[in-house]
Amino acid sequence: MKTARPTAKPTPRPIRSAVLLAIGSELTVGETRDTNSGELARFLAEAGVDVAWISALPDRLETVTAALANALATADAVITTGGLGPTPDDLTREAIAQVCREEPAVDAHLATWLRHLFERRDIPFPETNLKQAWLIKSSTAIPNDRGTAPGWWVDRPDGRVIVALPGPPSEMRPMWQGWVLPKLEKRGFGQERITRTFRLTGIGESAVADRLGEKLLRAPNPIVATYARADAVDVRVSAVPEPRRSAASILAKAEAAVLAAVGDHVWGHDDDTWSSVLGRELVEKGWDAALVEVGTGGSATRLLGEATWLKASRSIATDDPGAELPLAGLARQAGRSAGAWIGLAVRAVEVGDDTRVELSAVGPWGVSEASQTAFLGGSEGRRRAGIAAAAFLHDILMTALAARLSSTAPPTGRQ
Ligand code: AMP
Ligand code: MG
Repeated sequence: MKTARPTAKPTPRPIRSAVLLAIGSELTVGETRDTNSGELARFLAEAGVDVAWISALPDRLETVTAALANALATADAVITTGGLGPTPDDLTREAIAQVCREEPAVDAHLATWLRHLFERRDIPFPETNLKQAWLIKSSTAIPNDRGTAPGWWVDRPDGRVIVALPGPPSEMRPMWQGWVLPKLEKRGFGQERITRTFRLTGIGESAVADRLGEKLLRAPNPIVATYARADAVDVRVSAVPEPRRSAASILAKAEAAVLAAVGDHVWGHDDDTWSSVLGRELVEKGWDAALVEVGTGGSATRLLGEATWLKASRSIATDDPGAELPLAGLARQAGRSAGAWIGLAVRAVEVGDDTRVELSAVGPWGVSEASQTAFLGGSEGRRRAGIAAAAFLHDILMTALAARLSSTAPPTGRQ
């Protein structure tokens, strides 16, 4: 009795995980930066696809073949960029064919298209370029409108997918967006992922990590990660659903843990900036502010940008006349001359390797002052002084005044 041959038709499987391989010796000798993988990883992560790893590989057949086989053992999709050129060192096609145990052959349609491209430009067709017209049985050509290297979409019998795209970002990008992404989406791509970012100040990234603890930071779901940004340390929490728990409930639990650990340093969420957060607080109270900074090189003004609530801002050097005045005097003067509710002054003075930051705010409640040491001197210290000024104002608006102002109408008199 004849046994039925296993069907060659792949069973599509949803794409939940991916590996990215950037192929080209220019990457591994440090001549070119792998920007392709980062771009693709962002698309994938946003769609809720878990990028298991990213590798840059030289143009060496055994290395590329081994990496492909390894990636296919774990990920639903393997996406390569590079190595699709016409020269012998471009061997992504050979490596894929080897892993799939198939023989590449020139595809008549692709060959005609390629020859036509050369005819159009009146250039003789180098036969070596025929390699760019290769396909294997399980591959489909991904059209390339900007170059001579079509990509490959390869369906594996177990439902996994290999996608090979050319290296030049200007070719890779439109092929990904216009052809690959829609096809992946049709297949069932990624999963719902919800994300919450907490924006922190007054604490370093390693102290944040310490407080969060390894258990939280190493968990696969929710993913809790810290990022040191220019204006904050961010803690990003993201969750995907599990069979018996919604993403929202997984996220909520992690959010509570993050708040318990570092909630005292949170000043904003998600896309908040200092300017938007302070603006919200001020607008609610019907207030605006004026700023004077001394010795900061204008870092607070740069941080706060074109905020509508910032009526005036002035930056003076430490040796300018008036720079030595008591800070509260400078703050009061700034508020008065701009007709603003709050006058805010910040002074940065380098002390040893660090920067002393003095802060003063004068408003309807009176005068608030503070001083602190910012880590490092020079431009980094001045940058931190700008953040300290924003954080100081935020603190005043949130805490010092909260109790008193919640029961009173917006103030009617100016300082
Ligand atoms: P290839 O498809 O290997 O012929 O790639 C040709 C060119 O694309 C390289 O010389 C690089 O300039 C660029 N390229 C290749 N891989 C990358 C990558 N991962 N990121 C950014 N550019 C790349
Ligand atoms: Mg190459």
